[in-house]
Amino acid sequence: MKIIIITVIVLTIFSFAYPAAMALTTPMDVLPQQSSQTPSDEPDSSTQPQDDTASEDSSASSSQTGGDAQAAVKPDESIMIKVLKSDGNVYDMTMRDYLISVVAAEMPVSFEPEALKAQAVAARTYTLYNMLVSPSHENADVCTDYACCKAYIEIDELKTQWGGKYEEYIKKIDDAVSSTDGKYMSYNNEIVLAVFHSSSAGRTENAEEVWNTGKPYLVSVDSPETADIVPNFKTTVTVTHKEFVDTVKAAYPEAYFGDDITAWVGETVNTPSGRVDHITIGGIDIEGTKLRDMFDLRSAYFSLDLNSLDATFTVTGYGHGVGMSQYGANVLALEGKNYEEILKWYYTGVELRDDAELFE
Ligand SMILES: [Zn+2]
Repeated sequence: MKIIIITVIVLTIFSFAYPAAMALTTPMDVLPQQSSQTPSDEPDSSTQPQDDTASEDSSASSSQTGGDAQAAVKPDESIMIKVLKSDGNVYDMTMRDYLISVVAAEMPVSFEPEALKAQAVAARTYTLYNMLVSPSHENADVCTDYACCKAYIEIDELKTQWGGKYEEYIKKIDDAVSSTDGKYMSYNNEIVLAVFHSSSAGRTENAEEVWNTGKPYLVSVDSPETADIVPNFKTTVTVTHKEFVDTVKAAYPEAYFGDDITAWVGETVNTPSGRVDHITIGGIDIEGTKLRDMFDLRSAYFSLDLNSLDATFTVTGYGHGVGMSQYGANVLALEGKNYEEILKWYYTGVELRDDAELFE
């Protein structure tokens, strides 16, 4: 508790001092590199004066702020975040308040408590990454646009949305945040880029397939959600031939579509997870992620069927497919896994911690 004040200051300074985005130079090796220097959880008796709340004399506590301070926990209440909201203003709030609005917006409150906790840790980690590793806003740490940072919902909106269930539901979200207070993920002593998505079709995706740069912990793993539990797991998007051609030509003016419709769409190449790596359309190799944007598909896991009338994309899952699947997390929780197991399932080889070492 003593370190709360200094940590806020350190954090503020640090967020300015730290160079932007450490380059994504990670090897594609799937093997988790278990950090060798983690000295298992044995309590360090020398620095554990058992609960001496009475001996709060200044000489003792001031010496504590030196070299060993990095081992301390960093509670959510002590971390101030600058949040850019949709009204264009930047608001200061604690990590705790921010996370409650994020978890409530990102996951249905009906999800299992362990899934909600996994979401809280992933969101906290992602926020720390935004603050300390790779800032993406000039005057704020994060924004409330889900397509940019993370989804966010105001408490007043939750009260309206949840009505008479508000007290019960907000407690569930609050529990997920407070029971994981300060916890975040690291890999090789670096804060993890804890991206997540709604649902995957059988397997998550390698980050490199989506963003051309990988992370050793963002590699494809099995994900257990199926159509019985995910709403709109399979969706279709149908467009006319004209819309199809116009959309492709808008992005690739050199694409060629002759009279023979069967020649419009060529080979499809899939990534190992089954998503579309690229398809040859109108003679152009177009990436699956690009087609996803162009035709507003829910994921890059799709098939394309061109018949004499129109073109239909049949899509499975929702989101980029990298990192934790939220619906998958809920299935794992229903199977009895706790939030740590869920996070380690989706983020290969990461470590869970709550010390402040990476803040300084
Ligand atoms: Zn943002």
